[in-house]
This record gives sequence, C-alpha cells and structure tokens, in this order.
Amino acid sequence: MTAPNKIAHIGIAVKSIEDALPFYTEHLGLALLGTEEVQSEQVKVAFLQIGESRIELLEPLSSASPIAAFLEKRGEGIHHIALDVDDVRERLQHLKEAGVPLIHETPKAGAHNAQIAFLHPKAAKGVLYELCQYPDQSHDE
Ligand code: ZN
Repeated sequence: MTAPNKIAHIGIAVKSIEDALPFYTEHLGLALLGTEEVQSEQVKVAFLQIGESRIELLEPLSSASPIAAFLEKRGEGIHHIALDVDDVRERLQHLKEAGVPLIHETPKAGAHNAQIAFLHPKAAKGVLYELCQYPDQSHDE
C-alpha cells in the first residue's frame, strides 16, 4: 500500500464555530476558506488553510450529530485526523481484508465533494482517522 499523500486536515470538535474562529483567524492569522453544512453528518464545518493542510472546525447541527455525541462524551478538542488519499474505495477494501476495524466500509460524500470514510478508532489506539479523496484526484471522473 502506498502512503497517503499528506494530512488533508485535522478535525476539531467545537460547540460553536463562531466562538472558536477568532483564535484561528485573529491569533494564528489563518485564512478562513469557507463554511459548509454536511447534512449526512448533521454537522457544520469551517475550513482554515494552514500550509498544504487545513484545520476543520466541526459544530453539531443537531443532537443527532456524531459531533454532539463526541462533545457530550469528551468535550471540545481534536476529533479526527484526515489523510489525503487517491483511492478511498481500494484502501477500504485492503483495510477490510486486513481485518482493520472500519466505521464506513464504502466511501460516502463529505465536505467539498470529497469521498470520505472513517476508520474505527480502535484501529489506531483511540485516534479517529478519516480517509479523504478529492474529486480532482479521482481517476473515474
Ligand atoms: Zn474531516
């Protein structure tokens, strides 16, 4: 298996993007790329560019959001690390065959039209990893 291309983003769970943003924009001087609502995850996301990676702030849209459950259980803080890869589907197949625990066995739609999938945190000592494939890297589009 080839290594992922880079860290696509680090996801940080917050109660309020509005409250969290000034630290990143004013104190760190990062550029806000935009905000987006991902209905499938019941989450609002804000992306900030940092070098070739991003910080992704995640705010729950409802109590049904996985982010709401995370905040309740563990409070605000680092939620996941996303890896930029070229072929989510193929990787998931490899991981599944290797017996690595997965949350998603097939890719789903994420922010910025990416194809994403989460590995189960018990695969990596409690760290939640996301695989992220952006459309411009897809070979079948
Ligand atoms: Zn993410």
